[in-house]
Amino acid sequence: MGATSVMHSRNSAKRICSGITVILMLGFFSFEFWCYNFVTEPLLAFRCLFNLAFFLLCWSYLATAFLDPGTPESAEWKAWLQVHQSTPEVDEEGQAFGSGGRRQWKPGQAGFCTKCDAPRPERAHHCSWTGTCILRMDHYCPWVANTVGWRNTKHFILTCFYGAVCCLTILCTMRKPTLYEAMGFIVMDPGEVGKPGNDYAVFIAPGLCAVMGMMSCVMLIVTFGFSLHNLHLAACNTTTIECSQSGKNPYELLTSMENICQVMGEFGIWMFIPVLGYKCGNDGCTYPLGPACSQMQRAHSRVSTYGATDAVGSDGKDGVFPWKDSDSGEKPSDPLLPKEDVSAVCEEERS
Ligand SMILES: [Zn+2]
Repeated sequence: MGATSVMHSRNSAKRICSGITVILMLGFFSFEFWCYNFVTEPLLAFRCLFNLAFFLLCWSYLATAFLDPGTPESAEWKAWLQVHQSTPEVDEEGQAFGSGGRRQWKPGQAGFCTKCDAPRPERAHHCSWTGTCILRMDHYCPWVANTVGWRNTKHFILTCFYGAVCCLTILCTMRKPTLYEAMGFIVMDPGEVGKPGNDYAVFIAPGLCAVMGMMSCVMLIVTFGFSLHNLHLAACNTTTIECSQSGKNPYELLTSMENICQVMGEFGIWMFIPVLGYKCGNDGCTYPLGPACSQMQRAHSRVSTYGATDAVGSDGKDGVFPWKDSDSGEKPSDPLLPKEDVSAVCEEERS
């Protein structure tokens, strides 16, 4: 399945479009890199800052574009399926919608995709562009030519962040010409162009820098906006798809930082390096529940994910998986209610 793990669409025309987008974006990055380093003359410290951010930008971008975002071929999904095959309680697609036609939260409950005709973990959604379900799907991004899902959301946020850092560095620190001088090229008298000796210093260099400056301005607005938007979603522990769902988000943990760590990994230097979320506290198929999760949802979650909780790559912190029995390896126990009361609570809250 190597072919589907890169440019995931099963449609060859879409795969070609995706490939062209990635090449165009890399071309744009290359132009910015060359123009800043070899046409303008920034100070050494700023040159180092830019090149470090540029390296991390390229790494994040390529990882977002080429990583498997969480398809059924990913290791996490396969591990979930192995455990889940013995507990095939699924929630049919039709039941995922409430009375107002809005999708409802189903914490701890496996879903079922009618398009793929297969069960899927909680928070997974079907991506129509790639024709497959994706773990904790956020959206399909044409700029990275890939779906943003559980495995590459961190890389996507870092792409936006480092993109904004690069553009800001270019705009503030370009020298000989500065941004202001380069923009003078736009109002230059066309008669000046072509005079002997004016070719490079007066025409070509400022022209290139003016193009770089304008592109950087646009990209700064886009990447800064996306950074803030995606950081806000991460801080609320939700996705672009989920934020329109009705009711309180059962996955939202107590603090914004706890929520951000669920996407970006444990706080520290690794949070800023585009590798898979280090100690993020979930495995992409099962997630810790927050205080807004009702007792009924919690009880149902424990019942339907029973057996699957052992596969979770949790660090076992208190409260992260409240139903998880950390050491004994025996049946998980819920501190909120005794095991035998689970069905009683479900009945109670239904009535
Ligand atoms: Zn599907």
